[in-house]
Amino acid sequence: MVNNNGRAELSSYYCDMHIHIGRASSGQAVKISASDNLTFENIAVEASERKGIQMIGIIDCHSPSVQQDIVQLLDRGVMQEIDGGGIAYRDTTIVLGSEIEIREPGSGAAHVLAYFPDLSTMQDFTQWMNRFMKNIELSSQRIYAAPLELQQEILDRGGLLIPAHVFTPHKGLYGNMADRMRDVFSLNGIAGIELGLSADSAMAGRISELDSYAFLTNSDAHSLGKIGREYNRLDMARPSFHEFRRALAGSEGRGISANYGLNPRLGKYHRSYCSSCQSNLEEGSSIHEMKRCPYCGSTKLVQGVFDHILHIADRDEPLSRIRGHHTTIRFR
Ligand SMILES: [Zn+2]
Ligand SMILES: [Zn+2]
Repeated sequence: MVNNNGRAELSSYYCDMHIHIGRASSGQAVKISASDNLTFENIAVEASERKGIQMIGIIDCHSPSVQQDIVQLLDRGVMQEIDGGGIAYRDTTIVLGSEIEIREPGSGAAHVLAYFPDLSTMQDFTQWMNRFMKNIELSSQRIYAAPLELQQEILDRGGLLIPAHVFTPHKGLYGNMADRMRDVFSLNGIAGIELGLSADSAMAGRISELDSYAFLTNSDAHSLGKIGREYNRLDMARPSFHEFRRALAGSEGRGISANYGLNPRLGKYHRSYCSSCQSNLEEGSSIHEMKRCPYCGSTKLVQGVFDHILHIADRDEPLSRIRGHHTTIRFR
């Protein structure tokens, strides 16, 4: 819709951009740890008919077996590719995504998300990626190519690169790989940041290289029930891939007006603690420097997200973001 000033009318849409596939309908396993009924079609039905989510990102669409399912759904007319990118199922738009594990010599591994506008672009990306992966059918596989090369391949295809659950010690870029994103990727080729459980926008606001990015809170669902566990409100002209891109960039009035995330204190990785005596360590402590529990001397220390962020932060107070963009609304 266009108003009197010739500008597109914007509305708010609820979006969960990180949902895994358990299995393809051929029986091919995709994400082993996810439930079997998490198929492309079941996800669309759950999001649209039970949860009322208007835009979803289905991760694992790089898998050739999942692509076969998508082709069938399009052929049967159950779903349609739309102008602006994405696939429509009833009132919900599906954006095709992939989760990929990166690693550099001497560092831990981290996950990133890549989104593409349509099936043929995703298939082309699969062809490229297949040369650097052991099993292209599976979710979140390690790519044996440099992160910068991966970034370039995503951008060359008009895709979006979003580092996933960046603060989690389990395969988050800051949590497990590097203290600075600029050491891994070219910062101007990053479309947004997924916070992940155990972190919120106030915590991420302590790291200045993140100032210009939109933050996403997604469910990373491994079962149908978990879809929408975390989600976002995006202001866009319509739910589509291109509007998603503009919302992330904050262009022409689009934006992310709210993140609906679990309180990070409920995340299992919030604070650093000693797994022997269960004491929480002092705020901002790094287990890599501390090495031993100050209370019992054990070396079984677990790094918490909150303390890790304080440790790598380059400012004392979080950047307060204007326009309501990026406030984390906590529930529960
Ligand atoms: Zn992941
Ligand atoms: Zn994931």
